[in-house]
Amino acid sequence: MRAWVVGRPGSMASGPLELVEREAPEPGPGEVLVKVEACGVCRTDLHLAEGDLEPRRPRTTPGHQVVGRVVATGERVGVAWLRSTCGTCRYCLRGMENLCPQSTYTGWDADGGYAEYVAAPADYVYPLPGDRPAEELAPLLCAGIIGYRALARCDLPPGGRLGIYGFGASAHLTAQAAIAQGAVVHAVSRSAASRELALELGAASAGDRPPEPLDAAILFAPVGDLVPPALEALDRGGTLAVAGIHLTDIPALNYERHLFQERTLRSVTANTRADGRAYLELALAHPPRVTTAPYPFEEAGRALSDLAADRVNGAAVLIMG
Ligand SMILES: [Zn+2]
Ligand SMILES: [Zn+2]
Repeated sequence: MRAWVVGRPGSMASGPLELVEREAPEPGPGEVLVKVEACGVCRTDLHLAEGDLEPRRPRTTPGHQVVGRVVATGERVGVAWLRSTCGTCRYCLRGMENLCPQSTYTGWDADGGYAEYVAAPADYVYPLPGDRPAEELAPLLCAGIIGYRALARCDLPPGGRLGIYGFGASAHLTAQAAIAQGAVVHAVSRSAASRELALELGAASAGDRPPEPLDAAILFAPVGDLVPPALEALDRGGTLAVAGIHLTDIPALNYERHLFQERTLRSVTANTRADGRAYLELALAHPPRVTTAPYPFEEAGRALSDLAADRVNGAAVLIMG
């Protein structure tokens, strides 16, 4: 089969992705082999290609938003980021398997979906309907699920004012979930196209800064410099949740300006399968408008370069020919 691998991690200009011919994976015990129809492109894939995240094994195929069919049964499934957990540690036992120290991840600990086939543990794939375009389902699998967890983690009160910093794939789905719950959403983004998208999706404002104090905020941009102003823009008691797996360093905070009045700064770490099931149930019952930028499989490098340069509006998705 054809597969993309991360050769030598480095800036996209250095060409870290290589297209190779390799054997299709042999599913291990408890695993299914999935023929890939489409794979969403996530910023985490970019962090792995560029070396912001340490590779866990050499020449790994990225991609963790896979829509495809189980070869043995024909069932349509989604393969997402969380690949396995131990099931027995204190975190797993208290329903926080996202914090399992033994957890493994698709496209990091094992080959992912930038390939014609992927193998994945059956207990960690999600059933998907057969009649929806793969391109529109793929972004739900990480952008959607992680955004859903971030929305839960930012403790937005009913009808509250939510700030969304960085308006890419995950933000555009999260904004719709929040607005459906009655939130007032303010998008903060540098990109004119994504500001326009935010307003089209029902955001109350889109600009350089929120026009009113916020009850909660989610930082999707991987930019630590945004943490102090985002904390400062919170109202008393507000929470800022950092959604990404990687963030550049956060500058020094001033207690009174940034944290006092019981403002909270917290991270979002992957997701549980319960998050995944809950979000997909919601998103399949009330489908969000999924804005996609499709790329042929052969152009994975261009997709990641465009993401690195903020040229993607909505969610980039690789489509198998
Ligand atoms: Zn992701
Ligand atoms: Zn565990």
